[in-house]
Amino acid sequence: MGLIVQKYGGTSVGTIERILRVADRIISYKEEGHDMVVVVSAMGKSTDVLVDMAKQISAYPSERELDMLLTTGEQVSIALLAMALHSKGYDAISLTGWQAGVTTEAIHGRARIKQIDPKRIQAELARGRVVIVAGFQGLSDEGEITTLGRGGSDTSAVTLAASLNADKCEIFTDVSGVYTADPRVVPKASKLDTISYDEMLELANLGAGVLHPRSVEAAKKYKVRLVVRSSFTAEEGTYVEEVANMETGRVVSGVAHDEDVAKVTVVGMPAKVGTLSRLFNTLADNQVNVDIIIQSSYEAAVTNISFTVAGDDLKKALDTLENNKAELGFDKVDFEQNLTKVSIVGSGMVNNPGVAAEMFRVLAEQEISIKMVSTSDIKVSCVIPAGQTELAVRSLHTAYGLDVEQTAVVHGL
Ligand code: ADP
Ligand code: ASP
Ligand code: MG
Repeated sequence: MGLIVQKYGGTSVGTIERILRVADRIISYKEEGHDMVVVVSAMGKSTDVLVDMAKQISAYPSERELDMLLTTGEQVSIALLAMALHSKGYDAISLTGWQAGVTTEAIHGRARIKQIDPKRIQAELARGRVVIVAGFQGLSDEGEITTLGRGGSDTSAVTLAASLNADKCEIFTDVSGVYTADPRVVPKASKLDTISYDEMLELANLGAGVLHPRSVEAAKKYKVRLVVRSSFTAEEGTYVEEVANMETGRVVSGVAHDEDVAKVTVVGMPAKVGTLSRLFNTLADNQVNVDIIIQSSYEAAVTNISFTVAGDDLKKALDTLENNKAELGFDKVDFEQNLTKVSIVGSGMVNNPGVAAEMFRVLAEQEISIKMVSTSDIKVSCVIPAGQTELAVRSLHTAYGLDVEQTAVVHGL
């Protein structure tokens, strides 16, 4: 018996039938005597549908109004899930993010949670109710409705679990846990029983969309017991924890990929002290998030600087550079779209020379050109043409001995 926070993603609540099935699962926990707080995402792909409607009106819709629009998605599913529980004879109440006491920064579209006041949730739990909370949303100190960024319901769940001191936070999704690669791309990927917070954080940051990166950050910080599992089966999931007894001896634990990468090259920047600082401060001031950076000098006086951004940020990056061309003093800007960042992750690669070399060898063997590279203690990333993503991810997965024979099951709508 204890307090459990669960989160059900879009596919898991994608139809009325699935919502009723989720209600049954919650009831089975309730019957075991647990207090239940349940975070839900918008049904199916409804957030995408809402974004698309906004984009039909404007390429740059007001961020405030976009948050107002997107938060309606979660309100649909929390209300329906509460009704589903009522229909089965259980007491439940749905709460929006702000009713649940979630306060965020005053930023739209990617607000961080500042604090959660769990009083209302605790009062509802004390009445014996299942509390259903809208994921992905909160309220700023100015009283504005905000969203946490796409996929942010995971972060709502983990931070709620932390503030309620829950015994466990279970993330229910359309696959049975965290795999050695995206099972949609690598059918031979294997499910991990456990993974460390650090490895999971790298995988999530490098594109493994199964968990919102900030949810892993929060789980690590507040020591939340986090489990990823399937809402379609009773299978055990993957535990994300401090020290995972992962497949010992393996250098690489997983392969991640991010298909939304663009490369920008600023040609002919003056090669002097402060150039990089000016360039990247200008980009940061304009909210352009930069990832991999490479500087190459071709003459003593000038230098070229290449960097990657998310595909969605490309236009903003190019506009920012153009608007600041005179101050920055470069000759021209080139860019390339349709790139993928493919990464290998594993704490076993610390102090293990030759891991990057092996990755380059595998990609070269498949005639995949590498456009940029970045490394850290526990990962190596290569930027490659998007058309070769599947080949690259599968080849690396095989080369690092991660393939299993049994094919992973992914539930879709
Ligand atoms: P939800 O709507 O439940 O939040 P998401 O689509 O956000 O679901 O996350 C689940 C998806 O994450 C899976 O369907 C899978 O395609 C993708 N994914 C990417 N990398 C991995 C991985 N390493 N392990 C498991 N799933 C992954
Ligand atoms: N509904 C939001 C999205 O699609 C939040 C989430 O699902 O986590 O991004
Ligand atoms: Mg998700």
